[in-house]
Amino acid sequence: MSAQITITVAGDERSVDQGTTAADLFEGDRAVLVARVNGELRDLAHELAQGDVVEPVTAQEQDGLDVLRHSTAHVLAQAVQQINPDAKLGIGPPIRDGFYYDFDVAEPFTPEDLKALDKAMQRIINEGQTFVRREVSDDDALVELEHEPYKCELIGLKGGASDDAAEGASVEVGGAQLTIYDNVRRDGTRAWGDLCRGPHVPTTKVIGNAYKIMRSAAAYWRGSEKNPQLQRVYGTAWPSKDELKAYLDRLAEAEKRDHRKLGRELDLYSFPDEIGSGLPVFHPKGGVIKREMEDYVRQRHIEEGFEYVGTPHIAKEGLFHTSGHLPYYGEGMYPPFDVDGMDYRLKAMNCPMHNLIYRSKQRSYRELPLRLFEFGHVYRHEKSGVIHGLTRVRGFAQDDSHSYVTKEQAPDEIRHLLDFILGLLRDFGLDDFYLELSTRDEGGDKSSKFIGSDEDWAEATSVLESVCRETGLELVPDPGGAAYYGPKVSVQARDAIGRTWQMSTIQYDFNQPSADRFALEYQAADGSRQQPVMIHSAKFGSIERFIGVLVEHYAGAFPVWLSPVQVLGVPVAEEYNDYLWDVLQQMRAKGIRVELDDSDDRFPKKIRNASKAKVPFTLIAGEEDRSNNAVSFRYRDGSQENGLPIETAIERILAAIEAKDQVTSAPSLTNPGPDAAPAGTI
Ligand SMILES: [Zn+2]
Ligand SMILES: [Zn+2]
Repeated sequence: MSAQITITVAGDERSVDQGTTAADLFEGDRAVLVARVNGELRDLAHELAQGDVVEPVTAQEQDGLDVLRHSTAHVLAQAVQQINPDAKLGIGPPIRDGFYYDFDVAEPFTPEDLKALDKAMQRIINEGQTFVRREVSDDDALVELEHEPYKCELIGLKGGASDDAAEGASVEVGGAQLTIYDNVRRDGTRAWGDLCRGPHVPTTKVIGNAYKIMRSAAAYWRGSEKNPQLQRVYGTAWPSKDELKAYLDRLAEAEKRDHRKLGRELDLYSFPDEIGSGLPVFHPKGGVIKREMEDYVRQRHIEEGFEYVGTPHIAKEGLFHTSGHLPYYGEGMYPPFDVDGMDYRLKAMNCPMHNLIYRSKQRSYRELPLRLFEFGHVYRHEKSGVIHGLTRVRGFAQDDSHSYVTKEQAPDEIRHLLDFILGLLRDFGLDDFYLELSTRDEGGDKSSKFIGSDEDWAEATSVLESVCRETGLELVPDPGGAAYYGPKVSVQARDAIGRTWQMSTIQYDFNQPSADRFALEYQAADGSRQQPVMIHSAKFGSIERFIGVLVEHYAGAFPVWLSPVQVLGVPVAEEYNDYLWDVLQQMRAKGIRVELDDSDDRFPKKIRNASKAKVPFTLIAGEEDRSNNAVSFRYRDGSQENGLPIETAIERILAAIEAKDQVTSAPSLTNPGPDAAPAGTI
């Protein structure tokens, strides 16, 4: 009888033969891809030792999914070198929703190349190649991989600052012991191999047909433009074909809603290269949405007790040292520029200036809470690689407020802000939320990234947390995500297709008001001088980003109050132009945004254009309408309501604007009334 060892498997203690592998434990369960042994991910072929604690890992958890995707990246690399033996390997880590692999090839991949790769990958997968781990010394690895200059470079970097190696490179050389993973065919022959830390799925069979090559793009080796340019191939892999299909459907839906594409089609905004990356301009139609949004948000702030203020775009650099944004937020700010021998900065935040408004006179407890609000234009030095349409820009207007309160008032003020924010988001049609609480990283290096005493942090965090709990919304912890000056709550909203967007933030700040920063004070009831707490809050984060989110949420079909054009007149024939123009003028007089399509296009073409423009009310007029002093409505879904008296039509539109309604179909379809039968104008 062979020697026995005791191990713990999924919580149960067990005695097994020495030499037992994780694969032996989970034999028969094909969903198990790797094992977690004493907290570390291992190949199923890993031999277990006395006292090991072992758990099965499937693709249902992120770690398992990452292994599946990274293993698929190996298959891709093998396919690339099969087709092009001269291709040199970079790195191939898993990423969100998939993986990539970088290659040094003479020519970028064409769409035909990618198709051929997809086929070659399927052949490799069907061969059922096993992933076999082999330990190698650094010297042996350098000899074996002498034709792979990038891999050799990684071997040289091993043990150095792994952060500097390359994003994702820890996948290859993260461990102390170098390993090569060989892909071995069923007949025992070696098909291919790659320097890799592992682990991997046991065999390529596991990948099945639930993978897809997505696209390729240029990428610099180790992210630096000083290095050679490689070609990055992106792919995705899922536990099943159904999940792959669902993912591709989601992508297609997201693409249809892409706010950059819709912004162009609907003539809302653009990103002129002449101005610079991440600096959008709003066209008249986008300007309408922006103005409606700002007007409403300004009005709601005033109703909620905020005072509207204004501050400049630039300030002396010293101001940002006082606030602590320099050096803590220095990377996010544009470099200083000289004005009359003095260093100035573009502002990246409004708080320092609001603090100066607070400090402009003596404050009494009777004035608190004091709430200052503005659309503050800020500039942030986002890296060019992360800039994306309106959702990640370099210049934007924050709907920014700062509430100055006594410590005792802080919980009520946070409650007030949260209620206000959730109400505002609902007014804009977002109603599915959860909250995220970002705190100081208790394990990490607190002193270099966060300022303030432990007691202050603990108090601020507990105030935020208890108010969040009261909302009954799901609360997700985000350790380490706090601002340098205090913890924050963010509201995460799910859009119409289930994607999550971080919208509003509320931050509790005991630092900026302190004596060594802005030294803010108020006179308390007992005559003593006290320090207020400031609570930063942005409701949408930025107006620009929020518009981008709304364009995607509504797929460009806005509720009536936000629609750039609320009513588009389409005459059945040219002779009805004047009649329709007259009706539209009556509507315009009531504040309704109208347009008339008096182009030479034929009627069906005009209807198609109206549909593309996603206007909520298309107003049609023909002979019957004109003779009855009536109009007909055509809605976004193609349904129609005919022969409405002009007065009724105007009331209908005004009611929809007032109620912030979304209008897509004729009311008679959902609620057939006695006069629902259409009169048949056209
Ligand atoms: Zn690998
Ligand atoms: Zn602030």
